[in-house]
Amino acid sequence: CDGVFTRRWVRWFAESVSRTEPELTDLDRRVGDGDFGTNLLVGLATTIRVLDRSPVTAGESRAADPLEVMAGVFLDEVGGTSGPLFGLVFQELAASARAAGPTLTGAAVEQGIGAGLAAVRRVGEAEPGDKTMVDALLPALTEVRRAGPLPAERALALAARGARRGVSETARLRARRGRAGYLGDRVTGVPDPGAVGVAVLFASAAGPVTA
Ligand code: ADP
Ligand code: MG
Ligand code: MG
Repeated sequence: CDGVFTRRWVRWFAESVSRTEPELTDLDRRVGDGDFGTNLLVGLATTIRVLDRSPVTAGESRAADPLEVMAGVFLDEVGGTSGPLFGLVFQELAASARAAGPTLTGAAVEQGIGAGLAAVRRVGEAEPGDKTMVDALLPALTEVRRAGPLPAERALALAARGARRGVSETARLRARRGRAGYLGDRVTGVPDPGAVGVAVLFASAAGPVTA
């Protein structure tokens, strides 16, 4: 999986987010302030604009490059709590891809998700069960780890499955972090928007998704 693969993944992620934005916005209206869908959408639109300015030329398409562009945009420009936190996840995925060589491997996916999860937990100070994106990243990592050595596409498909499982769990959780933390029991029954965003990220490696 080279830079053509990761570029297509980022493009499909952007496509997925434009399809799911109304749902993401609605979720964040119920558990937060309603800007999560827009934050993600704007960040991805900017990422695609930057990528389109630098078309890939054969032989110099490293898997890490598009992920690094996306990381830079989210860390520097995207608002909300999720902007920088998603930026950290993208940055760790990019760093692991870079360390693996020109192509993305299943081991690099596992390593990147693990490091992304650690970074989000460090910066966001969220624990598992706090009803945040941590609750999608952790089961994603568990699923990939359990499977052992895999090609990157398979690892990402498993990460998507783990993350989706995490999303349904978040619906049963009471939030303790972020804005949803102030709303207490009112948000029980509603999945965490950031967790849904993580599931959409991994699922998009196989094509654009609706939710
Ligand atoms: P904001 O609350 O600043 O408007 P966003 O709407 O952009 O942030 O993102 C909300 C998402 O960010 C939540 O659904 C949750 O997954 C994630 N999040 C919020 N706070 C934290 C935190 N402290 N640690 C980890 N993730 C968090
Ligand atoms: Mg918000
Ligand atoms: Mg906000």
